[in-house]
Amino acid sequence: MAEGAIDTTTTSTATASPRDGLRRPALSPSRASDFKQCPLLYRFRAVDRLPEVPTKAQVRGTLVHSVLEQLFALPRQERVPHRARELLAPTWERLSTECPEWTELFAQDSSAAVRDWLDSAARLVDAYFELEDPRRLDPQACELHVETELRSGVLLRGYIDRLDVAPTGEIRVVDYKTGAAPRQIGEAKAMFQMKFYAVVLWRLRGVVPSQLKLMYLTDGQALAYTPDEPELLRFERTLEAIWEAILRAGRTGDFRPSTSKLCDWCSHQALCPSFGGTPPEYPGWPEPDPGEESVLDRAD
Ligand code: SF4
Repeated sequence: MAEGAIDTTTTSTATASPRDGLRRPALSPSRASDFKQCPLLYRFRAVDRLPEVPTKAQVRGTLVHSVLEQLFALPRQERVPHRARELLAPTWERLSTECPEWTELFAQDSSAAVRDWLDSAARLVDAYFELEDPRRLDPQACELHVETELRSGVLLRGYIDRLDVAPTGEIRVVDYKTGAAPRQIGEAKAMFQMKFYAVVLWRLRGVVPSQLKLMYLTDGQALAYTPDEPELLRFERTLEAIWEAILRAGRTGDFRPSTSKLCDWCSHQALCPSFGGTPPEYPGWPEPDPGEESVLDRAD
């Protein structure tokens, strides 16, 4: 898709209106991925809402995503590596104030270790500039909240890192990946997330995105994919089937563990029967909104 001037006239979201001030239950890409990976993990996160201690890599991802969002708020000529790096320290200061529990991750660290961690965030920011020149484009939106209701009544909700819209109307969905997990492990999950956004945008705007672009800042590589309408239609059926399965499990409380390599990244092994643990008593289906994404979900 051509880079350049961007159509800024389209509204950023269209949503089903909340009923009685409550948000309707919706499927997000993170929670749908959780359920696909392991129904019990979905339950722990979306139903029990067990707290999870973020990793330094997740917090760094949030920091880098925030810096890249702010970068596009600068005039084009200022979108250069040193300006982006200058944003890191004040952004970390702000995030530390908003989420003081994150600073506990560094409680035992020396100031040199914290500096090293900030340097590792700076390297991710630098890697972004190896992949594209932000002075050549104006995104229509960054950190865009999107929500749409499928004809089946399933509500889809999520946040898109960046949305580019060409003057010709072509849509590009961009997602930055900063996670520590090996890329091969995360790639299927990342593509699932991108197709999720493609379905939401297709249903919101009537246009199939012409490109889904993943930018891997850990290894400085990008992956671009072009979806088509029949594929998104099939994917829509998949999302509906996942939501049906979630509701079925939600009624009975039957969320089974499903082990995989990804268990290494699961915070809840101590409560998982596959690892000798016992889950807490099923608390029942949460209302109004199971599965809301956290800021950390959005910065993997
Ligand atoms: S440890 Fe693995 S099987 Fe158990 S809840 Fe976590 S992801 Fe599921």
